Amino acid sequence: MTIVQSLVGLLLVLTPTLLVWQHLGMTRVFEISPRHPYGVTVTDDRHEHGNSVSSLVRTGDAFIMRCDLGAVFAWPFCKMQFHLGQDGKGMDFSQFDSVTFNMRYSGASRRKIGLHLTNFEPEFSTIGDWNSQRYDSVEFDVPAQTTFTIPVNVLRTADWWIAAHNVPLDKTYSRLDNVTAVEISTGSVPPGQSITIELRSIEFRGKWISNTRLLTYLVGAWIGCGLLGLSLSLAHVRSSLSATNARLELLAAINKALQLEARDLANQAHTDPLTGALNRQGLREVLMRRLHAAGRVDEEMAVVFMDIDHFKRINDQHGHDTGDEVLKRFVTVIRGEVRASDRLVRWGGEEFLLLCPETDVEHAVTMVQKLRAALSMREWPHGLHVTSSFGVTSLKPDEDFGEAIKRADGALYVAKSNGRNRVEVG
Ligand code: GH3
Ligand code: MG
Ligand code: MG
Repeated sequence: MTIVQSLVGLLLVLTPTLLVWQHLGMTRVFEISPRHPYGVTVTDDRHEHGNSVSSLVRTGDAFIMRCDLGAVFAWPFCKMQFHLGQDGKGMDFSQFDSVTFNMRYSGASRRKIGLHLTNFEPEFSTIGDWNSQRYDSVEFDVPAQTTFTIPVNVLRTADWWIAAHNVPLDKTYSRLDNVTAVEISTGSVPPGQSITIELRSIEFRGKWISNTRLLTYLVGAWIGCGLLGLSLSLAHVRSSLSATNARLELLAAINKALQLEARDLANQAHTDPLTGALNRQGLREVLMRRLHAAGRVDEEMAVVFMDIDHFKRINDQHGHDTGDEVLKRFVTVIRGEVRASDRLVRWGGEEFLLLCPETDVEHAVTMVQKLRAALSMREWPHGLHVTSSFGVTSLKPDEDFGEAIKRADGALYVAKSNGRNRVEVG
């Protein structure tokens, strides 16, 4: 944005400065005078079979042309010619808009002179044929004062030249982009007079850059500056939008990670770290959810209490780590056999609870027998034979859970008493 701001600042300063400068200055001057004579010559109508006689005297500060106008040629004349170029290569006068003369005129009753510019245009002109060049002219009364100015746009292309070259109408305008000569001639005055033109200087004046062109450039610069500012601020908006999007995506990712972590923490709080079975807190959750889901508990649920047989002996004979490994494998075996909706809880030590929703005791006993078979099939560390005793009971709808636990525990005790590796119903 600072680039655009400094550009606007620069344009704010440049615009009025350039406009004022263009108005007051930026002047281009082309001077013809004895200091810049441009191959001055004089000529008259004698080679048009007239009898006017001209002569030129060049002093330090003036060209003095004397002319005795004859009466033979229909339009008698004498003229001074200044040659600006040759072989069809002239000078561009199209940016000049005024001509200032410094001259004295004497002799004739009517003070008239002509200004003529020849313009070489390849379309009509041929090198060596003077009259083939466009002839832009104006004839005017010389004012009394020695210095006077006329505008360039009073010049008109001579009718004889237009007629001689069959110039189409749209090209009859005066054209000054390749001026090869400037001429000052006597005007249409009655013949037989002696005229003296003392020319000190002719100055063509114009601007290095026209007002219109300068305005066009300035408007272009302002529009360019505006477009630059617009595209920069668009890019800025786009990049801050994508930065915001990136930030939102990052926040979403963090949020997701936090949610996952929160779920992990919640799971950890409900899970036994050694075996992955639910802990007592997890059991409480399951019971609460069962209550919430139905509003009231109206379904039967089997409750199985299980206790690994002679576990103390495994610890004592093979170490605590082996005991831990047995606990883990025990849970894996049970989980492999029960339904996804069944819940396994580590009640403590080597004692586990299995909750089987919508299951009656009969089905629970069948399922437990399958568990016993699976435990006996399983390989255990150190070639151990791990068995478990089971107490099965049914949690009646709306019955206190503690009562069911007590019954299951009682059945388990019976199973232990009856020799272990058994299922008893309580
Ligand atoms: P019973 O057949 O009558 O159930 O005999 P038991 O040896 O299995 O029962 P007891 O209650 O005498 O022994 C349980 C042992 O389990 C005692 C305790 O050191 C051990 N134990 C409890 N928690 C863990 C545990 O997380 N890891 C290991 N390795 N042992 C545990
Ligand atoms: Mg025990
Ligand atoms: Mg035990």
